Amino acid sequence: MSRETLDVLVIGGGITGAGISLDAAARGMKTGLVEMQDFAAGTSSRSTKLVHGGLRYLKQYEVGLVAEVGTERAIVYENAPHVTEPQWMLLPLVENGSFGKTSMSFGLKVYDRLAKVKKEEQRFMLNKEKTLEKEPLLRNEGLKGGGVYVEYRTDDARLTLETIKRSIEFGANPVNYARVEDFVYENGKAVAVKVKDTVNNKEYTIYANHIINAAGPWVDTLRKKDGSNFGKHLRLTKGIHLVFDRTRFPLRQATYFDTPDGRMAFAIPRDNKTYVGTTDTVYEADIASPRMTEEDRSYVLEISNYMFPELKLTKEDVESSWAGLRPLIYEEGKSASEISRKDEVFLSETGLISIAGGKLTGYRKMAEKAVDIVAERMNIHAPCPTEHIHLSGGAVDGSSGFDTYVKTQAYLGEQAGLSKDEAEQVIEFYGSNAPNVFAHIKKQKKDIEQAGLPLKLGGQILYALEEEMAVTPLDFFNRRAALLFFGMNEVDKWKEPVLAFMKKKAGWNETQAASFVEELETEIRYAKHTEEEVETESAVLS
Ligand SMILES: Cc1cc2nc3c(=O)[nH]c(=O)nc-3n(C[C@H](O)[C@H](O)[C@H](O)COP(=O)(O)OP(=O)(O)OC[C@H]3O[C@@H](n4cnc5c(N)ncnc54)[C@H](O)[C@@H]3O)c2cc1C
Repeated sequence: MSRETLDVLVIGGGITGAGISLDAAARGMKTGLVEMQDFAAGTSSRSTKLVHGGLRYLKQYEVGLVAEVGTERAIVYENAPHVTEPQWMLLPLVENGSFGKTSMSFGLKVYDRLAKVKKEEQRFMLNKEKTLEKEPLLRNEGLKGGGVYVEYRTDDARLTLETIKRSIEFGANPVNYARVEDFVYENGKAVAVKVKDTVNNKEYTIYANHIINAAGPWVDTLRKKDGSNFGKHLRLTKGIHLVFDRTRFPLRQATYFDTPDGRMAFAIPRDNKTYVGTTDTVYEADIASPRMTEEDRSYVLEISNYMFPELKLTKEDVESSWAGLRPLIYEEGKSASEISRKDEVFLSETGLISIAGGKLTGYRKMAEKAVDIVAERMNIHAPCPTEHIHLSGGAVDGSSGFDTYVKTQAYLGEQAGLSKDEAEQVIEFYGSNAPNVFAHIKKQKKDIEQAGLPLKLGGQILYALEEEMAVTPLDFFNRRAALLFFGMNEVDKWKEPVLAFMKKKAGWNETQAASFVEELETEIRYAKHTEEEVETESAVLS
């Protein structure tokens, strides 16, 4: 990238930057993207992992926002059915809750209408008995019934990666571990960025005719560097989630419930885990590493025990957790949860385009807005094409053909030595890229076995290293394989041989290996414990 002048350089490899990279490249623009950490290591691996229209925004009368992101759900699903799946959501109707019976029934109907939901996925209402049949763990006291409607569950980091990978197929050049340190100006216009490769400590200058700042919670940090942080600015709010094993929290039905303090939270089953969240508190500390505090954990345990009182969950039941920052647009006089989730574009005199706010769900539309501005400046008349571009791994005969695709392709995994179940799991996770994972297993079976690793895990590591730009073990365990949050027991069990295997395959030197291991261990500690617990433990050790 430093050898040519790009049409567009995107700063930030979260879902917003990924979407822009795909949109711009698909419109024929020479596109580059730099991400200072791993792809999706910012907010885009730390969300509630739902592609949703935001039912609660209806209460704030944000009809336009609900309609726009609501209709996006079906598009995101269709373009990547291996990353997104429909999830029936139960909304318990409770005494003094957010919704009365009529407003819930009406609200859900409006929601379905705005989001143009298909007939078979439209909402239905339940009486108390039927609601308890759906989810027997629910609080009985004050329960009057429920509404059931469809949302979509996703893996945010994988959605980001699949978008990034697809943009590469259109000629884009995204790189991770490349931090923008400064802008370069000519005649008052931003014409290039100075970038540091944080793995090899090299510096580059990348010239681009148009620079888009999609740095999520860091958008204002870059606007400050650009001298254009005027007017509206960001307000960061933190949200945390707790993960429990399904044996301890056997939730049958995803539930969106009222909390005693007048907020709403999700409890969602995922494989053999259940996760609950989230909090929404104003955040002003270090942006790169928001942590779960004692207060955050107590709050989520409290609301879980309130809605599912039989469980009596304690901190010992928390298997993993994560904390993320919402990059919201500040609104005078509004509390954290009242601030709109709308996105906003800021145009600087220097030519820098910044885009922030919004949601994972609306990433395609956000990308369209940013790329439309570039297209206009370039005088290109190419409409946004991404509605009909499947993401990487999404060539699976559409959402309706995906189940058959999984069944008919599984033999390829079996040929590589996996069991049928394992082969199907790989296809469900990687979609039409699964044959590449199988090919790695076939080619390096001996090495994987010698490393003492299961074939499936070995194949995933090789695929992550060779085809998904994973650099560190944390990149693998967190953003490539989703194990740090939903498979902590797997992480504990396999981390030693995985580290040895990755070191050998990626050729880390001893210093790199030591720092990568340290990073992984730190993140495991923070996923299992609160910030206070980790600090106390570190103080005792030192
Ligand atoms: C707790 C929580 C729950 C949420 N739940 C949902 C949900 O269920 N559904 C939904 O639709 N949305 C949800 N959201 C919102 C959604 O996650 C965010 O809107 C979205 O992920 C933001 O993506 P982004 O790309 O703008 O930011 P990010 O993902 O943070 O990406 C910005 C990237 O820019 C990089 N960067 C910053 N500075 C530089 C630099 N100088 N050089 C190079 N790179 C740089 C960062 O490292 C980062 O990776 C949730 C958010 C939170 C916090």
